[in-house]
Amino acid sequence: MDSFRNLILAASPKKRDLIDRRWIFVPYDRFNDRVGPLTEQDANSTGIVIVESTNKGHRRAYHKKKLVLLISNMRHFALEQAKRGAKVIYYFSELSHGQALLQLQREKKIPQLVTTKPAERELRIDLQQAIANGLNIDIVEDATWLSTTDDFLSVYGDYSPGKSYVMDRFYRRMRQKTGILMKNGRPVGKQFSFDADNRKPWRGDPPEPQVPAFEPDEITREVINLVGTTYSSHFGNIGDFNLPVTQQDCDRMWQHSLENLLPHFGPFEDAMRDDAPRLFHSRVSALVNLGRLLPAELVRDVESAADRGRIPLASAEGFIRQLLGWREFMRHIHQQTDGYRLLDVAHERGKPRSTSHEPLIGAAPAALHASLPLPAAYWGVKSGLHCLDTVVAQVIDEGWSHHITRLMVLSNLATLCGFSARELTDWFWIAYVDAYDWVVETNVLGMGTYADGGVTATKPYVSGAAYINRMSNYCGHCRYDPKKSIGPDSCPFTALYWTFLERNRDVLGGNFRLQMPYRTLDRKPQDELVQLRERADEAISHLQSQARPEY
Ligand SMILES: Cc1cc2nc3c(=O)[nH]c(=O)nc-3n(C[C@H](O)[C@H](O)[C@H](O)COP(=O)(O)OP(=O)(O)OC[C@H]3O[C@@H](n4cnc5c(N)ncnc54)[C@H](O)[C@@H]3O)c2cc1C
Ligand code: SF4
Repeated sequence: MDSFRNLILAASPKKRDLIDRRWIFVPYDRFNDRVGPLTEQDANSTGIVIVESTNKGHRRAYHKKKLVLLISNMRHFALEQAKRGAKVIYYFSELSHGQALLQLQREKKIPQLVTTKPAERELRIDLQQAIANGLNIDIVEDATWLSTTDDFLSVYGDYSPGKSYVMDRFYRRMRQKTGILMKNGRPVGKQFSFDADNRKPWRGDPPEPQVPAFEPDEITREVINLVGTTYSSHFGNIGDFNLPVTQQDCDRMWQHSLENLLPHFGPFEDAMRDDAPRLFHSRVSALVNLGRLLPAELVRDVESAADRGRIPLASAEGFIRQLLGWREFMRHIHQQTDGYRLLDVAHERGKPRSTSHEPLIGAAPAALHASLPLPAAYWGVKSGLHCLDTVVAQVIDEGWSHHITRLMVLSNLATLCGFSARELTDWFWIAYVDAYDWVVETNVLGMGTYADGGVTATKPYVSGAAYINRMSNYCGHCRYDPKKSIGPDSCPFTALYWTFLERNRDVLGGNFRLQMPYRTLDRKPQDELVQLRERADEAISHLQSQARPEY
């Protein structure tokens, strides 16, 4: 047992190595040796520091599979680097990363460390505090991003409270700057976005491809045991772990996506199924966010496959827009607003206002005044809403569900009911294998719930049952009727939708994109409105009445 500790011990430095080599701290979200400080000298001159911190693991009740994925990748990355000839200090610590590095530097007398700027704000703050206490570390810009702060500012200018952003402008700028899917200064296919073509439900054809197998090796099995004991009370199932943890397997997963999934991605991007939860989504987000897969390489591969006719243009463009557009856009928004701390919108009742000096408390903007506690259904207690129960069960099992289920089921319901957007964000952060502050806070507080008052999205992404019924097969297996909006067997989503619009008229009534639904609402007779309110209240009370498990 303990094979990892024995293996990595062989890569420990001698005294001279501590002086002669360049020592690089690799943060837990930047496992790659193809860009950045690890490429700047040969392996025989490189020393690597990796910190496995139980302090970080215990900070939230992170999904067990998320911890296995992260720790096993971390351990395999350490061994891969040792195999290249680098010396490795793999430091187990109960301290935070910053404090652990400070202790290690003093203990081993490492004169100077260097690191890539971590993507996660929480880790950046932790390092800054350690630097203030004497840690000697050089933080260099992260070259894995596809855009710079200047790219973002050149489109929107400096952040000021009340400013609203439209992602499309940034995306066009990035297409022009990089030349990706561009010919003679014009977009290939004569349009920048094929989003409107990508909205088909899926009825079983083409069949969903088989997921490749990533059998856990001895090191991963050790990590599974560790997580099962050290983090036993955490969220999520740990069984049937089947995610890549070596560079070779991460690349294999990407090749599988490129060849089998992406050719069908576009048209079915928004489809939802209870019998095919993954459909044609690449599921590479967690690996990209860990640094294992580089966005530049993925974008290049997809562009080249489209060029050779292997992936239809609409699918290729849809995928590239996510990486070159949304992913980059979200991290700039997070940086510009200091994780939404600078937003000038209403703040959630009962939650302390978060400032830069309180790094562990997340911002709780609440432009729509949502502050009801997140109900037990999100923690796995069955609600009877088949769409919600199906997606939550998948998340408990896998730590992942695709974009539209996140947006139009989990966030939609929370927004319609007025559940705390901050609590929902913290839930996503715990529950999803790809969640880190910069990406989860912007997506949930911004795109998912409109808690940011429209900084990220021009209107809330909300709908009644009709959308879910059109895009999924959930409603056919539900006890509620998506065609009815009132009465005990009616789908609660529809009544919740109309009462949401009514409740938020002061904030949303003037939004030009919502004029049509507001006109429909205004035509509803009084007695129907009364019944809709009753149905919505009933649904919220039912969800709120269920006891929530503790994590
Ligand atoms: C409420 C909500 C919460 C989300 N939380 C996260 C999160 O914690 N972490 C995360 O990586 N993504 C998050 N997303 C974005 C998106 O849903 C996931 O990136 C995507 O579902 C991951 O699956 P995939 O790899 O199959 O993605 P694909 O559909 O294959 O998309 C390709 C890649 O584009 C990137 N991407 C796509 N959309 C976004 C986006 N909106 N923001 C950032 N990157 C994007 C991802 O890296 C993804 O792997 C969230 C979206 C919503 C609506
Ligand atoms: S009927 Fe309503 S609750 Fe049931 S699956 Fe459809 S949208 Fe969800």
